[in-house]
Amino acid sequence: MPQRALFIALAERILFSLVIAMDTQLTWYGQSAFKIVTPNGHVLLIDPWLTNPVHDRGKDEVAGLKRVDLILVTHGHSDHVGDAVEIGKKTRAKLVATFDLSAAIVTTLGYPSELADVETTGHIGGTLTLLGGEIAVTFVPAWHGSGVSKEETAPSVYAGNPAGLVIAIRGGPTIYHTGDTDLFSDMALVSRFHKIDIMLVCIGDHFTMGPDRAAEAVKLVKARTVIPMHYGTFPVLTGTPEVFERELKTRKSKAELRVMKIGQTLTLDEAKDS
Ligand SMILES: [Zn+2]
Repeated sequence: MPQRALFIALAERILFSLVIAMDTQLTWYGQSAFKIVTPNGHVLLIDPWLTNPVHDRGKDEVAGLKRVDLILVTHGHSDHVGDAVEIGKKTRAKLVATFDLSAAIVTTLGYPSELADVETTGHIGGTLTLLGGEIAVTFVPAWHGSGVSKEETAPSVYAGNPAGLVIAIRGGPTIYHTGDTDLFSDMALVSRFHKIDIMLVCIGDHFTMGPDRAAEAVKLVKARTVIPMHYGTFPVLTGTPEVFERELKTRKSKAELRVMKIGQTLTLDEAKDS
């Protein structure tokens, strides 16, 4: 019997070391939708509009999702809430959002209320420690709107202020998803509390900051690596990675620019805490 216990303990240790050896994976689906797979294999979706117009495989991707632990949403607009309710019902993922947004998504769109309880509901300035301590999510300000509506033409329901998200992953990178926002000087405060390895930054213009103001935001945040998002989905989102790169260079930004293709997955091993 002790031998069997020893064998089990050994097998557990080998399995554990295999699991913790995994690197964080980041997938972009277009617009502001990302999937993060953590070193322990937890699956997070951010602003999961997987069925957006520039992602051909959106429906298949949603259908193929087996495990999702958390769905994080920055604000109530449909290009960010996206497929959250369908995925939440299917996978039983918990909804991570600010208080008013969470309530609006539950009551207006039908996200299961038992998956949107106080554990995963916070507000701006607060940090939630989740998944057994593997991740810590901090809600930070964003300058935008945030209403939830069931149909495109229906009046929107109050959903509080929009947010950005700082996601610190144990044994992995700290990721700042700006949500939809303009540049604002208090972005500099983000780096006072978090060393940002990866900044996911909106650059599309029209509804958010464009490439020039986004480049200025990168400087304020002192991000090590920057990945542009929220561009090219509709004709009015005219900001491009090329102009963004030029604006970063003009400002002598030290951030590494990585432009992701839709559906591409990056391994973020090089972005671990150093
Ligand atoms: Zn948007």
